Amino acid sequence: MQYALTAEQREDQSAFAAFADEHLLPRANQWDREQRLSDEIVELLGKERLLVPTLPVEAGGRAMDVMTYGLLSEELGRGCGNIRNLVAVQGMVAHAILKWGSKEQADRWVPRIGTGETVGAFGLTEPEAGSDARSGTTSAERVGEGFVLNGRKKWISFGQRAGIFLVFAKLDGESAAFVVERGTPGFSTTPITDMLGLRASELAELTFENCVVPKANLISHGRLTFDLLATGSLDYGRYSTAYGAVGLAQGCLPASLDYARERTQFGVPLKEHQLVRGILTDMISGVDAARLLCRQAGALRATAHRDAIRQTLIAKYVASQTGFRVANDAVQLHGANGVGPDFPVQRHLRDAKIQEIIEGTSQIQQVQIADLTL
Ligand SMILES: Cc1cc2nc3c(=O)[nH]c(=O)nc-3n(C[C@H](O)[C@H](O)[C@H](O)COP(=O)(O)OP(=O)(O)OC[C@H]3O[C@@H](n4cnc5c(N)ncnc54)[C@H](O)[C@@H]3O)c2cc1C
Repeated sequence: MQYALTAEQREDQSAFAAFADEHLLPRANQWDREQRLSDEIVELLGKERLLVPTLPVEAGGRAMDVMTYGLLSEELGRGCGNIRNLVAVQGMVAHAILKWGSKEQADRWVPRIGTGETVGAFGLTEPEAGSDARSGTTSAERVGEGFVLNGRKKWISFGQRAGIFLVFAKLDGESAAFVVERGTPGFSTTPITDMLGLRASELAELTFENCVVPKANLISHGRLTFDLLATGSLDYGRYSTAYGAVGLAQGCLPASLDYARERTQFGVPLKEHQLVRGILTDMISGVDAARLLCRQAGALRATAHRDAIRQTLIAKYVASQTGFRVANDAVQLHGANGVGPDFPVQRHLRDAKIQEIIEGTSQIQQVQIADLTL
């Protein structure tokens, strides 16, 4: 298995790192405090075609290969977990419409998401249906030339900002996916604030009360809607989350190494204490191991290998836990400074916890990895 990057991929990686250093790191703490991204950064990502870079150029993307997309996700995760989440969600929504919708539907909505003209949101989770998303009770019934939707979705990233919502509902007892546009009568969003982490992911609850959606907005209906469309979108999101967790952990490393070099206790720099060296070594090796699993998943995805989905699950399972452990160690090494507002490590720790919950919790991934292996 060859994980070496091409010269072009290395060049892109440097450009993504520079983008994160210039546009994300200086503002990520502020967005976290304000619980909102700035409009400027969303516009910039759209202008740079970085919202869904894996789309074809004519659909608003950069035709980016899967390995390069992983490198981008790592750098975005290092800079700001909310931006990494934004980019993942835009990809999940846009690719689902492109792959499962008609040409008219793709032409109508996908370029708007790719260019940032409209933000997309992925509405699967319900107040009573999270890990068991298949059991969601949001309903769709046929009326005249469309469908009437009733139900609620919860914890939907960028639900406060989005103009296009991919919403899952039950139609004739089977899963269906609809596009619901903001402003549709009977559809409303309520902000969810004060989460532990990913606080600038602008979460919302979505409410559908006799919301009439035109026939032209039905993207998919039938068994494959959940089995392939929803699970395929989550697989795309998981790949991004895995790399993002590596980026988050990588973001904790230089800060911790510098702190261990500069902070003196008991007459020597922290790095001279063997227990501190042990913590640092676990952090360094954890990041490398998680990154290698992401690269392995990327290499398999690039060839549409039959083990790609399982390896992506493994990468996300390990990387999200590594991200949390490394961020926790980084906070510990920083002592009281680590839990204060001026150091980014406490934001990373809060964001890291969320990576173990979104796109399937660690326990659900344990179940899935075992199911696909046994
Ligand atoms: C910041 C954030 C952003 C999000 N964004 C989105 C979004 O954009 N779109 C969207 O649709 N959803 C989104 N979600 C929701 C997310 O997908 C769910 O939170 C996740 O799927 C878990 O569901 P739950 O929270 O209902 O937990 P539950 O499913 O109720 O799980 C509770 C606990 O029980 C465990 N558990 C459940 N079932 C099993 C089992 N079979 N075996 C072992 N353990 C089990 C879980 O691992 C967990 O520890 C977001 C959540 C957060 C926090």
